Amino acid sequence: MAWTVGLIGHPVGHSISPIFQQAAIDEVGLSARYEAWDTEPQALAARVARLREPDCWGANVTIPHKEAVIPLLDEIDLAARHIGAVNTIVNREGRLYGHNTDVVGFRRALQDLGFAVTGCDVVVLGAGGAARAIVFALIEDRARSITVVNRTAERAQRLVQDMLPLTDGDTMLKAVTYTYLAEALKKCRLLVNCTSVGLKGSATDGQLPLAADLIPTGSGLLVYDLIASPPVTPLVQAARDRGVRAEGGLSMLVLQGAASFELWTGQPAPLRVMMQAATKAMAG
Ligand code: NAP
Repeated sequence: MAWTVGLIGHPVGHSISPIFQQAAIDEVGLSARYEAWDTEPQALAARVARLREPDCWGANVTIPHKEAVIPLLDEIDLAARHIGAVNTIVNREGRLYGHNTDVVGFRRALQDLGFAVTGCDVVVLGAGGAARAIVFALIEDRARSITVVNRTAERAQRLVQDMLPLTDGDTMLKAVTYTYLAEALKKCRLLVNCTSVGLKGSATDGQLPLAADLIPTGSGLLVYDLIASPPVTPLVQAARDRGVRAEGGLSMLVLQGAASFELWTGQPAPLRVMMQAATKAMAG
């Protein structure tokens, strides 16, 4: 049988997921096509219903449907439930399971950099869907403290309220406004940008999510920018200019996709091939 799987979003034309997922499928020799399914909100229910067909593995889900798909699925895993967003759907004999692989993608990206989160003080910029996945991962990995800073203060407060019950008292989790950012950055060892500020082609293309002179310096510090395009974001460049180790989000993008691939196929993802295809697609 020729299988199908795809990306549900609107728009989807800019996404490189079809490229590196197809490269993975071809590399392991499976007979499947990964397609881009541009889906307007009113067509979402019908698109998701089609995932139940026996020839379909499921889908990735991206903006703006990550929350809206939840009521259309049969089961949601713990992480996706707490985060409130699904980015991977798996079809198991007509039943649809929702997952959020941003958690494992982020975790594996930090592991590959040799960075250990346990006992570490972290500042998270942003409080949208991606920030919720990152905070969930940081709590699970027992960061010592997580300070969430967001332009819209209420959104950061809501994130903290939702996640606080997960901390078991091991992690100090709080929301502060940008006024207190400098203070929070003084002792932080990991700064994660989960805002979209600096995203190529957006209104904030070329901009930094914080003043360059606030970027903390010091040995053992890591700046991780979730933004994958451009590969070297303004934040990554500014941090490197200050002598700080900094990485963009391409590694996480590929690793979250690899986790989706493993959920669909039950096979290890060919990471090297996926990363090569993604890097080439970004360059082109
Ligand atoms: P989202 O839910 O729309 O959240 C966007 C965040 O950016 C919010 O916190 C928003 O603040 C903030 N923001 C936007 N414009 C801003 C500005 N001009 N000044 C200050 N803050 C601003 O988006 P998301 O799904 O969380 O995604 C966030 C970013 O992460 C995107 O760039 C996305 O591409 C990236 N991402 C990467 C991966 C990966 O695998 N590498 C995975 C997921 C997401 P307000 O709340 O005040 O609006």
